[in-house]
Amino acid sequence: MPHTEPFLVEVLNCNTMSSKPSIVYYGSIQHGNPGRFASFSQKVDEVVKKLDFSTIEKKDKVAVKMHLGFNDGYQTIPVFFVRRIVKAVKDAGGYPYVTDNPTAVYNAVNRGYTSETCGCPILPTAGVKDGYTYKMKIKYKNVDSLELVGSLHDADVLIDLTHVKGHNSCGYGGAIKNIALGGFHGPSRWHKFHAIHESFEYWNAEKCTPEHAKKLVKSCPKKCLKYNEEKHKLTFAFDMCNQCMECIEADKDIGCMKIRPEYFSAFQELMAIGAKAVLDTFDENKVFFINFLIDITALCDCWGIAQPHVVNDIGVLGSRDIVAIEAASLDLVAKEGLIESMIPPFIKTNLDPEVDLHPFARLFGPMKNPYLVLDYAEKLGMGSKEYKIVELLSAKKTMKMKTPKGAFETEPSFF
Ligand code: SF4
Repeated sequence: MPHTEPFLVEVLNCNTMSSKPSIVYYGSIQHGNPGRFASFSQKVDEVVKKLDFSTIEKKDKVAVKMHLGFNDGYQTIPVFFVRRIVKAVKDAGGYPYVTDNPTAVYNAVNRGYTSETCGCPILPTAGVKDGYTYKMKIKYKNVDSLELVGSLHDADVLIDLTHVKGHNSCGYGGAIKNIALGGFHGPSRWHKFHAIHESFEYWNAEKCTPEHAKKLVKSCPKKCLKYNEEKHKLTFAFDMCNQCMECIEADKDIGCMKIRPEYFSAFQELMAIGAKAVLDTFDENKVFFINFLIDITALCDCWGIAQPHVVNDIGVLGSRDIVAIEAASLDLVAKEGLIESMIPPFIKTNLDPEVDLHPFARLFGPMKNPYLVLDYAEKLGMGSKEYKIVELLSAKKTMKMKTPKGAFETEPSFF
């Protein structure tokens, strides 16, 4: 064994007034010792150990829900870590499979994910034609149902394995989004989640002439507004809107256009509802959340592009409470802040230090406050925003420890 000292646990941060906050285990990317025992990969293993897979029963079918990226989007969770987590599931007696939408699965090999490298099958969430689903009745604004994917519905255990990053629709792509949008088939995602703003009257057709509609379209620097003169219809791509209010300024004499916080918060509320529908299909002792806060990009993995990381690498978190792990992730990102030189120039970022915004809301606008989803999730009883971070193998502790001798490469050598 490379080190003989007792397992290292350090309480770092307590975002709570309550006597029973949810525990979030944390392994920092920073290490205090060149010994392998103190490195990030060992911390990932320690977080998984602390999460305690003993509630996985022999032969349980274990869905490891990931986002495997698209096209050139390689900045997802390295297969190196996926393989280790998959092994831990197998050691606990479970039958794991990695699962994501059919497109991401089909070309996952281009980003290094295969059944050989992951150590388990990779399955499309809703079958090869994205049609293997279970209809869930949902009563929320213009949504009456969502189609939950079969690969999660049929699983005995869920490992929500998430790459933390920004997201242009809601500010933040984390564990809730991974199972909320990722837990439903394509038409649910694109025609229901991404169309939720259509349940609001953001434009008054009667008040607006075609000429004025064209002026509104021109006013938007993000090209979020489109006008169909034949149908006299103005459409609004809320996903791309950063609430700069240029359109409202252009509309001040007519007043036919509105940009309201509820258009954006509705997406987050529906995400909480969707994630709850997924989690409700599992025994509460059989859900595990692991967030990787590395290679934190501005846009989601689904953009399928290589991107600069806009926040420094932070580490890995693990919890049994989805709300707690999301709150801890967002707080750690807020503490780290944005790396200004890495922000893509096409993202109009609010860097005014006088304005109190989370880094992801600086990127995507104040109405895309990433904490909102946590309020909705907490209200739905999905977990608690009150958490206690327990750091494992902290740099502060390991720097005081001796580096083991001869503990570098132990595998057979060709030399
Ligand atoms: S508020 Fe949104 S829709 Fe209006 S101009 Fe700005 S980006 Fe475009």
